[in-house]
Amino acid sequence: MEVPLILRLLSASIKISYKAGAIVRQVLSSGNLGIIDKGINDLQTQADRQAQAFIVGSLMTRFPGICVIGEETIDKSEYKINSNEFDMSDDQFVLEQSCPTNLHNVNLKDVVVWVDPLDGTSEYTQGLVGHVTVLIGLAVKGRSVGGVIHQPFSSTETTEGRSIYALEGMGCFGFKTCSDITKDAPSETSNVLTTTRGHCTDFVNQALESCGPTEIIRVGGCGHKVILLLEGRCHAYIFASAGCKKWDTCAPEAVLREAGGMLTDMLGETLTYSHDVNKANNFGVLATAKREWHQDYLNKIPQSVKDHFVA
Ligand code: AMP
Ligand code: MG
Ligand code: MG
Repeated sequence: MEVPLILRLLSASIKISYKAGAIVRQVLSSGNLGIIDKGINDLQTQADRQAQAFIVGSLMTRFPGICVIGEETIDKSEYKINSNEFDMSDDQFVLEQSCPTNLHNVNLKDVVVWVDPLDGTSEYTQGLVGHVTVLIGLAVKGRSVGGVIHQPFSSTETTEGRSIYALEGMGCFGFKTCSDITKDAPSETSNVLTTTRGHCTDFVNQALESCGPTEIIRVGGCGHKVILLLEGRCHAYIFASAGCKKWDTCAPEAVLREAGGMLTDMLGETLTYSHDVNKANNFGVLATAKREWHQDYLNKIPQSVKDHFVA
């Protein structure tokens, strides 16, 4: 019997993420970053372009007709990779898992893959490579159900990087809890928040302060901040601003949810991932390490902060 599509997709995405991570490392060591300014405080490098061409090309060759939405607009002919360079391998462990019943019969036409080939580009160009991730998110009928957060420069796996991945109902894999900060609910003595390093605004700071942090960890990347939640290093990730996109949140949301956490916008609304959705997360991002803490954080965000968001 053929392995269900969703397992084959996750299995392929894990393998593809490792090779994309190798591209990200190789471009850095070449010293030739090829930086382009896409807008205010929004960079693209050769690594973003090349990793995206590789990920999208691999997925489309392997799953003809699949809808893949990547962050970068690139001239495909310029980044044409020979088809024999695309990744066609499988993660055997995933292929051997039993597929959650509700995902058994997923059709290709119901799937959108959201790709951020390099999350944390600005930090990458500044040598803060630990903030960098490659994100491949799997959405089915508009809902994020699985994905891969790959860290090319993981301090725990120095040579190959590491891929953290999950599928709803199957579990999440590839990381260990490194700290016990979040074994207890946030309190007056420990309430560790993470947020943006490069895109801070007054509203972001107001939202953070209203939650009574004992520490604020300002780092780059949506993938990286969700890893801090997964590893038990932070209680919540708060970003009360527009700017983050669907390719930033799709994979992290699914992995975090499967680990017991929750990610929504700053109004507590679920994000959707169908192909025709607004790509911008205009209402910000609020994520908590445990889903039962989510409402408490939402309640603390001042109405004036919630009111400033515009669709
Ligand atoms: P950060 O936490 O600042 O690293 O942002 C997480 C993700 O959202 C990254 O991919 C950023 O590039 C993106 N992002 C957040 N705010 C903005 C913005 N104002 N302009 C462009 N991209 C943004
Ligand atoms: Mg990103
Ligand atoms: Mg990116």
